[in-house]
Amino acid sequence: GQQVTCTASIGIVTSEHGHQQPEDALRDADTAMYVAKHAGKARYVVFDPEMHAVAERRLAMESDLRQAIASDQLRVAYQPIVSLRTGRPLAFETLVRWAHPVQGLLAPADFLPIADETGLIVDIGTWVLNRACADFAAWRRLSGIPPLAAIHVNLARKQLLLGKLPEVVMDALESHGVAPECLHLEVTESEIMNDPVHAAAVLGDLRRQGVKIDVDDFGTGYSSLATLHELPLDVLKIDQSFIAKMSEDHCFAALVHAVTTLAQNLGLATVAEGIETSDQVAMLQSMDCDFGQGHYFAKPMSSDEALAYLRSHATVSPEWSSVDSLSASMLHSSPVLHCPE
Ligand code: C2E
Ligand code: MG
Ligand code: MG
Repeated sequence: GQQVTCTASIGIVTSEHGHQQPEDALRDADTAMYVAKHAGKARYVVFDPEMHAVAERRLAMESDLRQAIASDQLRVAYQPIVSLRTGRPLAFETLVRWAHPVQGLLAPADFLPIADETGLIVDIGTWVLNRACADFAAWRRLSGIPPLAAIHVNLARKQLLLGKLPEVVMDALESHGVAPECLHLEVTESEIMNDPVHAAAVLGDLRRQGVKIDVDDFGTGYSSLATLHELPLDVLKIDQSFIAKMSEDHCFAALVHAVTTLAQNLGLATVAEGIETSDQVAMLQSMDCDFGQGHYFAKPMSSDEALAYLRSHATVSPEWSSVDSLSASMLHSSPVLHCPE
């Protein structure tokens, strides 16, 4: 008694490609059909030989990616998260890279979509989490560097769907001796909104164990403000697209200000992403945004470079010295970045 609506994705191949065998024509029609599906379904696409080349490159990359973890080709880059009140680096965000044997160092955009489709993202995510915990624990044991409060790790939707995520996270923390309060897991709005009830349950479980939850790229998804209030969250990370447009367009400045006020009222801290200029720093300080991240402070770097960066920031530079007296109290009173010794 229900009305069912069906759509179709159609791949078309014409005789101009001179197929000798019916299987070859079907294979190319199939390739075109998958392009139609990827383009949003309910459409037709006519085969073009470049599609075949793209499909072959993807297949090669998928099989390379399966080797990447076992062959020790994954790397992490760290980018500092800085207090906008004191200028001190308080945390690092962990960003995955792939040292591909032929193509060189690949950014997440080059391989995470395939990792996501194939489910390899789950193993990659676990590897990144453990690498980040190991480096963070090693940095915290060193003296002569500013006390780091937290390490941030990005989560993919498929990790969130995994029933055993809290177990995987707690295992990583325990095996490296990192307190749960020191780990911030970053999830995007769309990952949460895809299934807010399930996300709230898994993230709530982690948060009860002490782990901090950040909404990444805030402002780019379609979060319902009502849902936001019900979710177990600690930090809003304001997407870099807002920060980039803030100086030229007062509408964006107003939006960023509104988000920081909203966050404060909900008891959440704010991190501005993609800060590139001192103007942006000044604007964000005037809006009382708590933390900042971006090329203005430092680009993502290797773990050795991150350590050198920390050593070079053992004392705060002169432009921040007027607020330096606040730093020690800020670090330890901050509800989100405090980490027990
Ligand atoms: P994200 O979590 O929002 O990370 C911030 C991205 O912005 C990083 O790109 C960083 O290099 C870039 N960025 C930082 N400051 C600036 C700036 O001042 N200007 C500009 N133009 N860009 C800046 P990256 O490393 O290419 O990572 C892209 C995305 O890939 C990340 O966005 C995150 O969503 C995803 N990602 C990275 N590592 C992981 C991971 O280990 N697991 C998962 N699931 N996703 C990851
Ligand atoms: Mg992130
Ligand atoms: Mg982000």
